[in-house]
Amino acid sequence: EEVEEKPKSFGDLKLQPWLVNSCKILGFKQPSNIQYNTIPKVLEGRDILASAKTGSGKTAAFAIPILSLLSEDPYGVFAVVLTPTRELAVQIGEQFKAIGSAMNVNCAVVIGGIDSVAQSLVLDKRPHIIVATPGRLASHLSNGLKIALKFCKFLVLDEADRILCEDFELEIEKIVEHLPPIENRQTLLYSATMTNNLKKLQLVPMKDPFVFEDNSKYDTVDTLKQHYIYMPALAKDCHLVYLLKSFPQSSCIIFVNNCRTVEAVKGMLNKLDIKTVSLHSFLDQKGRLRALKQFKSGFVKVLIATDVASRGLDIPDVQIVINYKLSNSSKDYIHRVGRTARFGRTGKAISFVTPHDVDLVKNVETAIGKQLELYPTEDDEVYR
Ligand code: ADP
Ligand code: MG
Repeated sequence: EEVEEKPKSFGDLKLQPWLVNSCKILGFKQPSNIQYNTIPKVLEGRDILASAKTGSGKTAAFAIPILSLLSEDPYGVFAVVLTPTRELAVQIGEQFKAIGSAMNVNCAVVIGGIDSVAQSLVLDKRPHIIVATPGRLASHLSNGLKIALKFCKFLVLDEADRILCEDFELEIEKIVEHLPPIENRQTLLYSATMTNNLKKLQLVPMKDPFVFEDNSKYDTVDTLKQHYIYMPALAKDCHLVYLLKSFPQSSCIIFVNNCRTVEAVKGMLNKLDIKTVSLHSFLDQKGRLRALKQFKSGFVKVLIATDVASRGLDIPDVQIVINYKLSNSSKDYIHRVGRTARFGRTGKAISFVTPHDVDLVKNVETAIGKQLELYPTEDDEVYR
């Protein structure tokens, strides 16, 4: 006789009741695969090296057990969380505050582009959790700010592969220098696409990490429809406007490859009375956060961005991702399209492909393990 498997629940995870309740309040009905498998290991004291698809709840996978342990001993800086982009740091800070609201968790977001002095004041108040971009945290440490990290229990790298593969080496070294030795803390690494560059991984030494990989081989979810439209480069704007007009109610992110193209496309769409906001590294930080807020609230339906927006951002209502220009890296593709179809939702990705991009498409198709489907255009009548 078959034994019926008990449904997974947060109650099974040996968390304090207040945390189980927090999950309930946030509408988390069941733990996702990565949450169910790694939360107990974190609670046991293990280091973690985990990869799971975009939108699978990796943030809560580390925030929940960290808050659980923190609430048992809320003293000093308990965890340092590093992320590659500023917007992602803000978002992770918000998630910690939401899950930890019942214990009034004190979480400081430390990012570039905003006032350093104000930040040092916040850091002086001994937050429980510091969420930071490596550059800004390292510069506080270099400038002699005494942040007591000696008793810190966790170092977390979100989007670990990107942090490790970009030029953050000196910053990471600086930060690790201030942390307790690996025996006295836990090191947790998460990403949707993990680096197999072991040399890079040595930057953040770990002790016998529990390795978790999502059971499937490829990194995009099945609820995401992935299309392409083949066109000459000159026809891009025309197709773009047509698509946006055909989905007036949908939130859409348009990815381009550089800041200048963001502004060019924005100017073009604004002339056609299509409201947009933009996100790229040439904007000041206030402008970046304001743009994101307008987009998240649904006030503006179209966000035009470079790859600063490709990692980690969680905006539940994004239905469409358009690759105005494919990135040279198929990893970027996976992260870009992962801005939609998050946590079981559906979504659509449409990539503009010119004759020059054929090799890029092949790389993408190898990475995702399937072919992009031709997007039905007007001629087919089914265009909608
Ligand atoms: P990832 O980092 O894996 O891309 P996120 O951590 O950003 O994914 O989570 C994606 C979304 O899913 C967020 O809006 C988050 O609040 C939500 N979420 C996380 N865990 C659960 C859960 N167990 N049940 C329902 N929603 C969840
Ligand atoms: Mg994430």
